[in-house]
Amino acid sequence: MLNAEILAIGSELLTPHRTDTNSLWLTERLNSVGIAVKLKTVVGDDEARMEESLRDALRRSDIIISTGGLGPTEDDITRKVFARVTGCTLTMDYDVLAEIRQRITSRGYEMTPNNERQALIPRGAMVLPNPNGTAPGIRMEQDGKLIVLLPGPPRENQPMFDDYVMPLLEKRSRGIRIATRVLKAAGIGESQLDDKIAPIYKQYSNPTTTILFTEAGVEIHLTATAESTARAEELVEELADLLEEKLENYVYSTRGESLEEVIGQRLLLRRYTIATAESCTGGLIAQRITEVPGASEYFVGSVVSYTNEMKTRLLGVEAELIEEHGAVSGIVAEAMAQGIKERTGATIGVSVTGLAGPGGGTDAVPVGTVYIGLADDVGVSNKRLVLPGDRYLIRWRASTIALEMVRRRYLL
Ligand code: ATP
Ligand code: MG
Repeated sequence: MLNAEILAIGSELLTPHRTDTNSLWLTERLNSVGIAVKLKTVVGDDEARMEESLRDALRRSDIIISTGGLGPTEDDITRKVFARVTGCTLTMDYDVLAEIRQRITSRGYEMTPNNERQALIPRGAMVLPNPNGTAPGIRMEQDGKLIVLLPGPPRENQPMFDDYVMPLLEKRSRGIRIATRVLKAAGIGESQLDDKIAPIYKQYSNPTTTILFTEAGVEIHLTATAESTARAEELVEELADLLEEKLENYVYSTRGESLEEVIGQRLLLRRYTIATAESCTGGLIAQRITEVPGASEYFVGSVVSYTNEMKTRLLGVEAELIEEHGAVSGIVAEAMAQGIKERTGATIGVSVTGLAGPGGGTDAVPVGTVYIGLADDVGVSNKRLVLPGDRYLIRWRASTIALEMVRRRYLL
């Protein structure tokens, strides 16, 4: 397998204000043709550091891709440093110069000596045209290694990479192809899930398995490599099937769909509708459901009843009930679910009331206590949870578990 390395160039990428996203996009592309990214570096507009990074990269990687620093300003030194390290002289490319002149003067600007610098190309290198900007990209070879210099802006470097670099990489990677699969699970903790499936996936080195924790549950990423896409798909399919079987109903999607997408499809199929009454999640469940296009077919509406008074006025939860049992209680959760179901006429009413913290916890009701209520034509029920995590995670987990409860109760 070929090894690639990415250099993200630009001092702004070392500040908290700009993030290097180019390497993420490039990694996805490189992986898709079976090239592994073994290292990436963010380096500022500093000649010495950039030179060092490039020398190291040339020593250890087959493919080196840089982004940024090809512009006309003083701090754009990528071209100069790369030429020095590879021992190529920079020479004026008059075709490129003419194109840059044309681009600048056609917009009514004056060509400056700075702009001319962008037409300096290392001798023997290939120029990668840039229809979306002035700085062309550069592709060169040294001792069998491929070096590609791309401009910084994604809208310039992405089409350039796809048009002038991908075809070459496809050839070089000798037909290695990659297939990936993402299984998503909810209602089960990361370690419990790993316990169940580790004995299975550990027997496979291809596909590789990565388990990721996200705020919406646990994800299992499978990646297989093979000499053809069809074979890679077959490999990934085989393990995915085994894992899905082992995890039974915990897996809610095998093609990367979100929980709310899956729920939407199933509600639609059964012609059910849903409404939410939310306290500590503040409308998060409704927000997640409505993120899916076409949600109006099955989502009726939501009430964010944060205060006790709103629980009473908008959902009909009796004030005495709240007084007696507390707002964070199973009985209030049930009354909220019942209230939203009756008021909206939805098939399913879902409610959440809880304590997301950080303050306000007691021995009886610690931070993280959440009650989820479900109401339908048959009856109403509630579930008590004590969720770990900070305020953000407690709210997210509560919304995920509420959605997961709906899926399990009504939509399997
Ligand atoms: P230009 O001719 O546009 O100046 P350049 O090759 O000199 O191109 P930079 O000046 O380094 O590129 O970056 C231009 C812009 O591109 C940055 O302000 C930033 O918005 C974006 N950019 C640069 N590097 C990255 C990166 N690694 N990830 C995401 N965006 C980036
Ligand atoms: Mg620049």
